[in-house]
Amino acid sequence: MLQSLGDLEQQRSAIVHQLTGLGDFRPCSISTTSGRCGKPNCRCHLPNQSPHGPTDRLTYKVDGKTVTESLPSPAALAKAEREVAEFRNYRQLSQQFVEVNTQICELRPVTEAAPSAQEKNFRSDPKRTHRPGRPTAAHHFARPQGDWPTRSRECRDSNPGCDASGRGHGSDAAAAV
Ligand SMILES: [Zn+2]
Repeated sequence: MLQSLGDLEQQRSAIVHQLTGLGDFRPCSISTTSGRCGKPNCRCHLPNQSPHGPTDRLTYKVDGKTVTESLPSPAALAKAEREVAEFRNYRQLSQQFVEVNTQICELRPVTEAAPSAQEKNFRSDPKRTHRPGRPTAAHHFARPQGDWPTRSRECRDSNPGCDASGRGHGSDAAAAV
């Protein structure tokens, strides 16, 4: 299936629109239990008594542990069913969102266009091409020292995904010198 970049971008916008229109959702499952409980004195253990339930309950995980909530009324059950169904919609949309973005990345050409104004400033900025340790450059300019390096280091630390682009900047700058 060949699609143009424009088509894919339209699909992506449509998915974003649908994501924003989602109702409340939660990653849970609904199950029904019935049977005899663990209390030996409970009526459910008496002969000729019916077991408990069926009882609807909601289960979900918090920090890896399963939490169970009872759904005491038909209205509570209906609300939980809506939320679980909406979560399935979210999952589906989220998957489509990733897929369409991946296709966009594959089709998006590598641009050889002129760098943006900001990048241009960065590259042609004389103090950037000066080696550190030249006192004239360091003292003359008002910009706080270490502005750029600090920011990119923070970015790399807090977000591993930035690593490649951080290195990219570095080698670009080196190549430009
Ligand atoms: Zn019981």
